[in-house]
Amino acid sequence: MGELEPGRKYGLKTRLVRGGTKRSPNGETSEALYLTSGYAYDSPESAEARFKGEEAGFMYSRFGNPTVAMFEDRMALIEGAPCARATATGMAAVTTALLCHLRQGDHVIASRAMFGGCRFVIEDVLPRYGITSTLIDGTNLEAWRQAVTPATKVLFLETPANPTLEIIDLKAVAEIAHKAGARLIVDNVFATPVLQRPMEYGADIVVYSATKHIDGQGRCLGGVILSDEKFLADHLLPFIRNTGPSLSPFNAWVLLKALETLDLRVRAMCEHAAAVADALARERKVKRVVYPGRPDHPQAALARAQMGLGGSLVTFEVDGGKAEAFRFANALKLIDISNNLGDAKTLITHPATTTHYRLTPEARAELGVTDGMLRLSVGLEDPADIAQDLSTALKAV
Ligand SMILES: *Cc1c(COP(=O)(O)O)cnc(C)c1O
Repeated sequence: MGELEPGRKYGLKTRLVRGGTKRSPNGETSEALYLTSGYAYDSPESAEARFKGEEAGFMYSRFGNPTVAMFEDRMALIEGAPCARATATGMAAVTTALLCHLRQGDHVIASRAMFGGCRFVIEDVLPRYGITSTLIDGTNLEAWRQAVTPATKVLFLETPANPTLEIIDLKAVAEIAHKAGARLIVDNVFATPVLQRPMEYGADIVVYSATKHIDGQGRCLGGVILSDEKFLADHLLPFIRNTGPSLSPFNAWVLLKALETLDLRVRAMCEHAAAVADALARERKVKRVVYPGRPDHPQAALARAQMGLGGSLVTFEVDGGKAEAFRFANALKLIDISNNLGDAKTLITHPATTTHYRLTPEARAELGVTDGMLRLSVGLEDPADIAQDLSTALKAV
């Protein structure tokens, strides 16, 4: 009782609450936390059989853990993916998804508007192992096509992208990847699986930082990689087992419980973000508002088709560059200055000096990350209070 029947179709909300749950003989209603690093075998024969893969069962928590497995199974059911593997952080998920199968001589194409850590892995880490890359404007489909070489193995993108909130056509890029014999890897953090499930559009691998909306309460780090069974068996499992980016069972338990409310939280955040974006657009001192749910977003139609709602992030620009952006942030009373996102608390960051400070001024200009730009992660407070805080702080500009 209480566990989902295999093979039966359940709605997203049911999968979020009950997917992957495996009760112990105690019948606990809340998922059990197995805070254990190892497992005892009944006999040396049993240990031998498990190592040979002839007997099912846990062996060591770097390979697998019952609480982590519940989180992975729930994530796979939510995404509609055959398999999921959890990692200690979102960056461990991205790094593992790339390094577990790429080798010397391979080529990666990536949309240049992406999370700073992802850009570091692709631009700085991969070349050390002879893996080259081409960074392009991901919204330009012709640029993806032109960057393909016979060595191209991966197309990598984030949509909406950080912090420009540009939208990339997942179906079109998946087709380009498959025609080239490459895999499409999507970092789906900003959209969350509630709004967008990239595998439905042809993505081969989806990665998450579970630190963001999945936890959604600013408590712990985590990551997930979703893939098919063959990629899991051939690449992910041996790499994770032997290199050890594994998720702690405690964090898996926090994330598992957080998934129960993900749909409610993300929908409320989107509603609040839409209201706050509209309020910002009415402010005289705001030069520009970028929100995928607004009709004035350059790819509003694509955003609507791919994500339904606009997401929980709003990017906007104030006049006067860094000095005025800082003056504004210093005048906020309720909203916290933090580079985290997807939290119940509304957070604001100045990308040019935080998440994107490592880029050259030219690279920032190319992305459209200006000195007056602020990225707002809208939380669960009353939207009127969030808008009021922003409006009052804008008076300081
Ligand atoms: C935060 C984030 C990551 C990295 O996740 P961590 O859990 O912080 O390691 C990767 N991609 C995107 C889009 C993110 O927002």
